[in-house]
Amino acid sequence: MDKITIEQSKTLFQMAQRQFDEAAALLDLSSGMRAFLRVPMQELHIRFPVRMDDGSTRVFEGFRVQYNSARGPTKGGLRFHPEETIDTVRALAAWMTWKTAVVDLPLGGAKGGVVCDVKKLSVGELERVSRRYIRHISRNLGVNEDIPAPDMYTTPQIMAWMLDEFESIRGYSEFGVITGKPLALGGSIGRVDATARGGMYAIREAARVLGMHTAGATMAVQGFGNVGKYTATLGEELLGCKVVAVSDIGGALYNDKGFDTGELFNYQMTHGGLVSTYPEGERISNKELLELEVDILAPAALENVITAENAPRIKSKIVAELANGPTTPDADAILVDKGIYVIPDILCNSGGVIVSNFEMVQNVYGYYWGTNRVHERLDRKISTAFIDMHQRAKELGVNNRKAAYAVAIERVAEAVRLRGWVD
Ligand code: NAD
Repeated sequence: MDKITIEQSKTLFQMAQRQFDEAAALLDLSSGMRAFLRVPMQELHIRFPVRMDDGSTRVFEGFRVQYNSARGPTKGGLRFHPEETIDTVRALAAWMTWKTAVVDLPLGGAKGGVVCDVKKLSVGELERVSRRYIRHISRNLGVNEDIPAPDMYTTPQIMAWMLDEFESIRGYSEFGVITGKPLALGGSIGRVDATARGGMYAIREAARVLGMHTAGATMAVQGFGNVGKYTATLGEELLGCKVVAVSDIGGALYNDKGFDTGELFNYQMTHGGLVSTYPEGERISNKELLELEVDILAPAALENVITAENAPRIKSKIVAELANGPTTPDADAILVDKGIYVIPDILCNSGGVIVSNFEMVQNVYGYYWGTNRVHERLDRKISTAFIDMHQRAKELGVNNRKAAYAVAIERVAEAVRLRGWVD
């Protein structure tokens, strides 16, 4: 078996544990602390029946992993995906724990999911699946316990149904129990593009460290969903980048003169969310997009897209990990050797959970902020986290990912120690 096959045979959670182990080895942690932090504290596996439109009953499977609650109530999105597994949810819950810690939010990490294909469900069936799932995990939810949010194939409308179900069980209003809600139900201004916007602030900081100008810098964006479409538009608007490549599940497009990202945005709105059918630009593959000679590469679609196989051919100066887990650990080492500046996912895409935390705060206060306040506070959070990571990287003589993990793990370990859970 060659190296690539070995790497690909690893599960996402094994990858998350390897990232943890590599950073933990740099720190002065007891063996008990390491053993405790490399596994989730609590996992719910549920099966629940839902009446379908044709009168039949289908049994759905769902998960909620509450990875670590030492720093506060656990927080993390809910994914509705036909290939969802407990392993993926575990990995994502671990990453949420390190993400909330590296940007210093008073939260732990969690993730949830239901095995289902939303494209094959009617609106009524989707609502019943959403309500049933939340009913089954409601005992373990609450603004002081665990707070879900939207993620892959879950939307503000789904969050609204879930909030309503939760409140009807409890018998009182608790807006802060779910974030990513519609504005009319206590959502926050600025949540929609928060992940991409936070990523742009991180790229701006990286460019500062590298002495690089973002104005006119070329950018390639993989994926044109919630994160990718705003990465492209804000890359142009906030950083002055020339977005030369974009893609979605249908393929990629290249234009060396740069796309009008506003036009691409409008196009996908009227073409089923797809940008790959846009009539202008050269058609290339998603694989080719990743290997373009650009200043900034922003994977914003899937995990495991930069592997030991293609990493030697990545030519960008910066890899901004807007997706979760886009780079495998073996690929990471190759990118570092090549001198590519990687902004790790736990920091680069933390804008979403930061504004989700702002949403909880606003819900608790019952007082809502304007756009500028949200953007300024998001900027401050990400920029501070970036400086923490950068300084730790210099102190330890390690790459950004290890430094970001080191900052995060130390913060979680300190909370665990102070609580007296583990020495
Ligand atoms: P999404 O479902 O809205 O969009 C995903 C996009 O990726 C779509 O454009 C889809 O066509 C494209 N895609 C799917 N398969 C592809 C492939 N093989 N090649 C190229 N493109 C492909 O999802 P999203 O919310 O934008 O999330 C994207 C990534 O960002 C995920 O890794 C997610 O975990 C991560 N993330 C999202 C948020 C958030 O706030 N939405 C926050 C943090 C991290």
